[in-house]
Amino acid sequence: MASHELKTPLTSLQGYTEILHTRIVEPGSQEGQRYLGRMKIQIDRLSGLVNDLLDISKIQAGKLAFAEEVVDINALVREVVENLHQTSSQHQISIEGSVQRAIVGDRDRLGQVLINLITNAMKYSPQAERIVISLMNTSDALMVSVQDFGIGIPKAHQKKVFERFYRVYSDKDRTYPGLSIGLYIAQQIIEHHGGKMWVESVEGEGSTFGFSLPHRSKQLPEF
Ligand code: ADP
Repeated sequence: MASHELKTPLTSLQGYTEILHTRIVEPGSQEGQRYLGRMKIQIDRLSGLVNDLLDISKIQAGKLAFAEEVVDINALVREVVENLHQTSSQHQISIEGSVQRAIVGDRDRLGQVLINLITNAMKYSPQAERIVISLMNTSDALMVSVQDFGIGIPKAHQKKVFERFYRVYSDKDRTYPGLSIGLYIAQQIIEHHGGKMWVESVEGEGSTFGFSLPHRSKQLPEF
């Protein structure tokens, strides 16, 4: 019920913005297009926050649902990177390596984890130009990591960033806005798939967030 009530007005706003963009505001009107662009960013942000809060309440109620489908992680990473490149052109995101086997899991939820890690990498490395995603295999799992060259995380905080509402910098510091639940949700999603999440970081040099996903079935296709 709450989910429907929160999502319906947002979907309408997204629709009306699209109509304004395609039919009402003249393509040549730079000011109109600029405000429309800002409006879209804010609506998308609000929509992300609503989805995260709804996920938290589903996790608490033990009702976060997962699809079981064959997922090609190589293709999923490429798709997420292409979409994010369209929203920010500051960072060059490169993909190194590939995985040899598909896994069974929830494509959208795993995409959500990747989006969270990559948008964090962008947000917490405002001066950097590149982000490196690595894909690797072990005999029984695949591993994905996202490395940035940003502000890093002091050692004492590193384990805690996966806790709900934990942020390294205080709420008063609005440099890095966020609800601080993205990594908590990401970890829940990965653990549901039987995997693990980790972070390695040096303050002032950057962070690498990674996760593993075990091959739960031997039947899946090799690429
Ligand atoms: P949010 O970014 O909304 O605060 P997250 O749950 O994604 O929430 O992250 C929790 C905290 O972990 C952040 O507030 C930030 O302090 C820290 N963090 C996450 N990713 C990075 C990163 N790539 N570099 C530095 N700090 C990070």
